[in-house]
Amino acid sequence: MALIVGLTGGIASGKTTVANLFQQHFAIDIVDADVVAREVVEPGSEGLKAIAERYGESMLQADGSLNRAALREAIFSDPKEKTWLDNLLHPMIRQKMLAELEQVTSPYALLVIPLMVENNLQALAQRVLVVDVAPEIQIERTMARDNVDEKQARAILSAQASREERLAIADDVIKNDATNEKLLPQITELHQKFLEICRENL
Ligand code: ATP
Repeated sequence: MALIVGLTGGIASGKTTVANLFQQHFAIDIVDADVVAREVVEPGSEGLKAIAERYGESMLQADGSLNRAALREAIFSDPKEKTWLDNLLHPMIRQKMLAELEQVTSPYALLVIPLMVENNLQALAQRVLVVDVAPEIQIERTMARDNVDEKQARAILSAQASREERLAIADDVIKNDATNEKLLPQITELHQKFLEICRENL
């Protein structure tokens, strides 16, 4: 299996931007935990079937897709239900990510896990790459992108792991405080480094 580089960072730190650059410039395969998390509850999936069986058909929208608001409501005030849901979905997500990583054809893969620190998932990767940015910039970018006010943006940030907690698990760090043009040189350098590690491990 290819070398797995875990990619993480806080909200609006630039994970998607960074992953896209690795893909566009160096044809590196990406496995994204958020994408996989949506796939395991898509119409026709085992995940969605189990949710509808437990909470009823009100979990489904007219087009057969998951009614996320209804599910949030069902688990919001009951930690037991949140645990039930996590126990259902987390193994499915893990298994599907591993299956996708098996299919990788690039020398190394990027495994994007936004909540890597919060869910203690760093063991899924052989190295951890953190996209690091000052909290004030995260707040600015979250407000601009998601159309939320400063208070909401600060609340989201404080519910996540801190910058320091993320940096504590990093093997490599990309700084994304500056403009997007500053990213590609950092990514190019890391790409060379990861290829070197792949060669050493052959
Ligand atoms: P999330 O996990 O919250 O979805 P993310 O970490 O994947 O976010 P992106 O979606 O890549 O982050 O970037 C967040 C926002 O910040 C986007 O609107 C993006 O265009 C912008 N952005 C990213 N990097 C920079 C940069 N260097 N300069 C200016 N804007 C940036």
